[in-house]
Amino acid sequence: MSHDHHHETKPESATSPLAARVRAMEALLVEKGVVTEAEIQDNVAYMDSRSPANGAKLVARAWVNEGFKTRLLSDGRAAAVEFGIDAVASPELVVVENTPEVHNLIVCTLCSCYPRNVLGRPPDWYKSFEYRSRAVREPRAVMREFGFEPPEGTRVAVHDSTADVRYMVLPMRPAGTGGMDEEGLAGLVTRDCLIGVDAPRARAAAGA
Ligand code: FE
Repeated sequence: MSHDHHHETKPESATSPLAARVRAMEALLVEKGVVTEAEIQDNVAYMDSRSPANGAKLVARAWVNEGFKTRLLSDGRAAAVEFGIDAVASPELVVVENTPEVHNLIVCTLCSCYPRNVLGRPPDWYKSFEYRSRAVREPRAVMREFGFEPPEGTRVAVHDSTADVRYMVLPMRPAGTGGMDEEGLAGLVTRDCLIGVDAPRARAAAGA
């Protein structure tokens, strides 16, 4: 099979030694018939179609709909599918709820497990050795560096993701958002809130 199409030239990352290694591995897998070029492209497209916006929508729905919230907390994957997010192939998705008593923080101490089927690829810092080790040892210090810290009396629960179980945080709905609709509420929920290194805040413009 010829390999004469042009790879898009991207600055830096595409020319890094790691990228070269990945391309060599990809070419080998295609050559050996393990995967096809089309399957690889399909997979990339699937991952690119996932984003933290999915998680934000699930959170906003849970904030306005108690029934949905109950289902989201009991089976995250089923709730995502019910919502129209194709997460059937996902490992188990456990959604952990922040309350005034407990704040949840997600990590994968071993590697980079993350609810990719819902949220897409994890941020680079999530995969860093520093985050993976410090999130467990000193979660409050880590959160402070993100510009956020739960109140003194709130217990911090750190959840270690695995190949079989992925976690997502259901943050608390911020005060002063009573008049906001679901779409507006989803706009307050960032990727960092879904990992637990931040919490949603009512924007000044949203009024109180
Ligand atoms: Fe992992």
